[in-house]
Amino acid sequence: MEVLVSQAIDDIKKYYEFCACPQCRLDISAISLNQMPPRYVVSNKGDSYGRAELLAMQKDLDVLSIVLDSVKAVQKQPRH
Ligand SMILES: [Zn+2]
Repeated sequence: MEVLVSQAIDDIKKYYEFCACPQCRLDISAISLNQMPPRYVVSNKGDSYGRAELLAMQKDLDVLSIVLDSVKAVQKQPRH
């Protein structure tokens, strides 16, 4: 799931100006993951998701809008 969030951060970076330093990325990820249903965050076997699974989840869940909200929240109060 963190892969999805990381991809979303990169996607948003293309059209939305914000700081993506390691600290901000961490904060954005943490807030985003908090807002996602636990089943998306914890992989039951601890193994990584396949690409098809990731795409299915992405479709299922509006990852971009969740991450964008997190970006805005972090930019209001950056901790870097
Ligand atoms: Zn930053």
